[in-house]
Amino acid sequence: MTESIPLFPATTPESAAITFGTPLYLYDLDVVAESHADLVAALPEGAVIHYSLKANPHPEVAGVLAGLGCRAEVSSTGELDSALVAGFAAADITYSGPAKTALEIGQALSAGVTRFSVESVRDLETLVAVAHTAGQDPAGAADPIEVLLRINADRPVPGMGLAMAGVSTKFGVDFAQVLQDPQAFQDAGRVRITGLHLYMGTNLPTEEVLLGQFDAALAMCGELAGALGRDFEELDLGGGFGTPYAVPGERPGFPGLRAGLEKLLDQHVPTWRDGGPAVSFESGRYLVGSSGTLVTSVVEVKESKGQQYALLDSGIHHLGGLAGLRRLPPLRPGVLRLSGDGRDEEPTGRTVNLVGPLCTPLDQWGSPSDLPQLHAGDLLAVPNTGAYGLTASLVGFLSYPAPVEVVTGGGRPTTASRAVFTRIPVERT
Ligand SMILES: *Cc1c(COP(=O)(O)O)cnc(C)c1O
Repeated sequence: MTESIPLFPATTPESAAITFGTPLYLYDLDVVAESHADLVAALPEGAVIHYSLKANPHPEVAGVLAGLGCRAEVSSTGELDSALVAGFAAADITYSGPAKTALEIGQALSAGVTRFSVESVRDLETLVAVAHTAGQDPAGAADPIEVLLRINADRPVPGMGLAMAGVSTKFGVDFAQVLQDPQAFQDAGRVRITGLHLYMGTNLPTEEVLLGQFDAALAMCGELAGALGRDFEELDLGGGFGTPYAVPGERPGFPGLRAGLEKLLDQHVPTWRDGGPAVSFESGRYLVGSSGTLVTSVVEVKESKGQQYALLDSGIHHLGGLAGLRRLPPLRPGVLRLSGDGRDEEPTGRTVNLVGPLCTPLDQWGSPSDLPQLHAGDLLAVPNTGAYGLTASLVGFLSYPAPVEVVTGGGRPTTASRAVFTRIPVERT
């Protein structure tokens, strides 16, 4: 057997740092494709997968998932643009999110989007009104518009850390409200309620919690079909498939999930295998989280009043803006050394404060005590940062340039680009 030689050798964090300088994000498109294959294998045969662009809207990263047949789940006009640039067809985009304005719904309709997740009676009324106006325009398309009604469960699912459903929340319509007032959720004009949207939480760690959530979701689907007097064409059961975030570790497989889900579907939706509703899922972090690495350099190591600080060229403006919202676990970057001279490889046992360049003491990733002694010029890498990295951070604060984003793999030449946060003149509305 001849070993195949990759056409374009993979760029490593070290080689990318030499070529492009730090700080940088490196995304490996082969890992995105592998993650997708793992998720497909964990879900029922024929399941539709949405890629949630908020995890990482980079057009090449999202483009791999468009090429693999995912749909896109977007929540802003910027994410809509990114999805279209990445190669998703407008018909394969679901526009979701609370507080959608008439303006953004109008922009989505003009771009050809025909599927919306609706989060309230007001949201539905706005969509109906804007679709009606757009339908009057002879130049405008008048395709049917599909609505997935986003439901907030009555109770939280056991084992879910930060619940986004089953509690009082801005997301979705309370289950009880739909049962009480089904008349408020009816078709109007070309807007048709075709399905349900049941996303409940993020980064769920175990199959047990995932299955508990899907069981609760499917039980609601049956009751809602009865209350609304219709058969649904699509059940979007959400997701929340967990994977390590900004810490070392392997992306988990979910070996029992497919069989568990198929059993639940057979129980709750016996027609799902033939002619029944399409079953769809959503994922951001599982699909792209393990594809990314943030590479940063130590600029200086200094002492202050008995404590050690490693000052890095990256910080919470590139990773961990969500830490301020207490959504980021403590970071433990793995140390990579360019020189490889073997000095100081042993952990010091002494705490080092990993701090960034921003003029706020909050710009700190953590204070690990298991790192070797750091020196100016050392390269550090934060693994598993392909999701909720750059665009989940405080990119505008202190006006530092964004890190370079290097994309490797996918059988293509490596690319590098930098996002800019810029000011443009705006006309009066
Ligand atoms: C954020 C979000 C997702 C993606 O969640 P992950 O944990 O990244 O998979 C999916 N659906 C909705 C509605 C979301 O808000």
